[in-house]
Amino acid sequence: MGVKEPANAVFGLLSDETRVEILRAIAVAESEHENADPSPAELSFSEIYERINVDNTSKLSYHLGELTETFLRKSDDGYSFTHAGEQIVRFLLSGNYEKPADFDPQPTSGTCLYCGETTLIAQLHHQYFQIECASCERPVSAFPITPAQARSWTDNDLVDNVKQKQAIDYEQIRRGTCPECAGRLSTEVARLPESQRTETIRHLVVDRCRECLRRYNSPLTYRVAYHPASVAFHWDRGIDITSKGLWELHGHVYEGRWVSERISTDPDEYEIVLRYDGDILRIRLDSYATITHTERARSRDVADQE
Ligand SMILES: [Zn+2]
Ligand SMILES: [Zn+2]
Repeated sequence: MGVKEPANAVFGLLSDETRVEILRAIAVAESEHENADPSPAELSFSEIYERINVDNTSKLSYHLGELTETFLRKSDDGYSFTHAGEQIVRFLLSGNYEKPADFDPQPTSGTCLYCGETTLIAQLHHQYFQIECASCERPVSAFPITPAQARSWTDNDLVDNVKQKQAIDYEQIRRGTCPECAGRLSTEVARLPESQRTETIRHLVVDRCRECLRRYNSPLTYRVAYHPASVAFHWDRGIDITSKGLWELHGHVYEGRWVSERISTDPDEYEIVLRYDGDILRIRLDSYATITHTERARSRDVADQE
């Protein structure tokens, strides 16, 4: 384990234009290397000197010395990034410290979880891509969006990109990994307070990252949406569920085709049932929302459902 530097000292190293320029220059040079070698390229002192605007070699040597250990790693062949250097330089290059560019509110298909309205509006709300109901005006889904994402994708492509990212993140969260920092999540199932409960949503899964303290909440029913059993179940019906945003799944919950309930206590156990026509996917979860059993069946109440 390395020596722990205080965070203010680490970030203080970046309060100098030349050092920021050095980090950018190394990343740009690395990206230009024609290289089939998966190991990171190392840049020599003279290669860095050629690429940046610095008065003389002793100044460069001083700044490289300041960055080394924290943001740069030095070997006989030159300089490459440490983990912190890699994170910081991608953050700098992507401009993700800026404010996301605004985009025009975009109508999108889906269902409001609270009133069943199918006209929804996607818009930027602070750093969130928020889906709002056109009728009751409640937010039905919100997902963080980065400035680079809002720049790279526009209009419908941005909506599709958010769906894709959401599906990947939710599956990663279900597997216990924080999408933000790759730290371990701890999970609990909580009963929703009366004021937030709906006819079909009673429990919430709360995942907390022990490392970066990020918290993720979602109705219990969606815990299984992107699980392989659900992906395959949908795929067999011609649906790529991984391309669906949560707000597009709300209709199943609102209309009662997807339900979740607590089926036993001490320890708690939950069951989620996804129904399509006469087919059923039944998934059991333990008190930590870990999937313990999956099963496909034909509904006994086919006649009631069709
Ligand atoms: Zn609504
Ligand atoms: Zn985290």
